[in-house]
Amino acid sequence: MAKIFCVANQKGGVGKTTTTVNLAAGLAKIGQRVLMVDLDPQGNATMGSNVDKRALALSVYDVLLESASVDEAAVLSEKCGYHVLGANRELAGAEIELVEVERREKRLKAALAEVADRYDFILIDCPPSLSMLTLNGLCSAHGVIVPMQCEYFALEGLTDLVNTIKQVHANLNTELKIIGLLRVMFDPRITLQQQVSDQLKSHFGDKVFDTVIPRNVRLAEAPSYGLPGVVFDPAAKGSLAYLAFASEMVARIAQP
Ligand code: ADP
Ligand code: MG
Repeated sequence: MAKIFCVANQKGGVGKTTTTVNLAAGLAKIGQRVLMVDLDPQGNATMGSNVDKRALALSVYDVLLESASVDEAAVLSEKCGYHVLGANRELAGAEIELVEVERREKRLKAALAEVADRYDFILIDCPPSLSMLTLNGLCSAHGVIVPMQCEYFALEGLTDLVNTIKQVHANLNTELKIIGLLRVMFDPRITLQQQVSDQLKSHFGDKVFDTVIPRNVRLAEAPSYGLPGVVFDPAAKGSLAYLAFASEMVARIAQP
């Protein structure tokens, strides 16, 4: 049965999409069966997985509105080695259309349940908000992976996210928990980043992943080639870090 994880943080530009596609590619490289779900109308995770969002016949939008199954809408990204349930601008409308329907926050959960036995991991890239789309992600998931930059305000933003996760846990999805905090775009030469990193560890203990993702230009270049860094340049420092993170995830899941 697939482990289903949301990559979430209500802030934009913190590395959610980069983490989702590189973790998906890293897991695929070590033999895991992966489905990547793009829940952001920007469709960056779709494009970054070598799938053209403008050419999608069916997308996660159709799945949320129950006019298609995950099987019908997902496509294989051959270059990346995982399946993609893509998104494009159409998804922005789902927010409003879902207001009227029943079980609106559990649509994705129901759809993923049908395919969960065919994957080891389902990774969901969330938009930078705590919207109905993110709520669908959180209701579907066993846990949340939170990428964060080690900056002063990062800790403040974390409080909102932790509270949201607590509320979803209490009211909608008792399985939900924080799997871990992932330090991304890390630059060890910056003293403040070291300090925030230390604070994170003393505050959250083993909820902080061991792997640290460095700031690395190859990770930033890869999306313009429509690829995760792990596929675009597997030897780059950032790619090696995401590969290590994939192994850390597999090891964590293996623990009882
Ligand atoms: P989000 O999905 O949270 O909005 P992104 O993953 O799109 O964030 O990342 C924001 C920007 O930072 C993108 O341009 C991305 O290429 C870049 N980026 C992300 N992680 C790294 C990294 N480790 N090193 C360098 N650039 C990065
Ligand atoms: Mg994103």
